[in-house]
Amino acid sequence: MRPSLRRIRADNPGPFTFDGTVTYLLGDVDVVVLDPGPDVDDHIRALARAVADASRVTVVLTHGHSDHAGGVDRLLAQLETERGRTVGVVGAGHVRAVGPERRNTVTFEGGRLVAVATPGHSSDHLSWHWPEQRALFAGDHVLGYGDTTWVGEYRGCVADYLASLARCRALDLEVVHTGHGPSLDDPADAFERFERHRRLRIDRVRALRRDHPELRGDALFQRVYGDIVPPGLDGAARSSLAALEHYVDTVGPDDVL
Ligand SMILES: [Zn+2]
Repeated sequence: MRPSLRRIRADNPGPFTFDGTVTYLLGDVDVVVLDPGPDVDDHIRALARAVADASRVTVVLTHGHSDHAGGVDRLLAQLETERGRTVGVVGAGHVRAVGPERRNTVTFEGGRLVAVATPGHSSDHLSWHWPEQRALFAGDHVLGYGDTTWVGEYRGCVADYLASLARCRALDLEVVHTGHGPSLDDPADAFERFERHRRLRIDRVRALRRDHPELRGDALFQRVYGDIVPPGLDGAARSSLAALEHYVDTVGPDDVL
């Protein structure tokens, strides 16, 4: 019998979160709560209710962005009011182990979750591999909608992102559960789509740099992103472009990661 896997979506829709952050609950008694989501009272209370019968809860994080990890302290506080229950937290800089947990492997009633380093969307980003179910919890590394995620947070993030996609492609998977939107039941296709999108952007910036070296700043931005940036995402697109420029400037055209 498959261990239980529940999805509870937070009510935090927005330009970065689509219809809201998805929290995953794995198991019933010795449970994992993967990405507790934003610090929204109704959502955290719903999670606490959903694990009311659990004797051990391990909170597992994909990364520290507030729409995924903002509710962690409130959830831990609620869970710890129940006596006789042990609570741990792993990921995004947290390691409060209970039982045999380590920084990169969590055990629970459904088997193991193994951390896969997937920096790019953020420098601390982990995806969590559930080998027993050939599943990957990918956080914001790939999303359930479209073919792109935000890759612009730090210098070197584009190279990291491509390497992280390659790391995921090497896993034996039948499903990818995402932090926003539906799960992806063709993982190879999903990783390829997200890589193709990023490489098209890289190629576009590289070609503009070559053919129009005078283009900088706003002018370059308009040529790369001008007509396709939805409202509210202008700043994110500008930082994405800066990251692409850094990549183009530091990685030669013949380098293949
Ligand atoms: Zn994020």
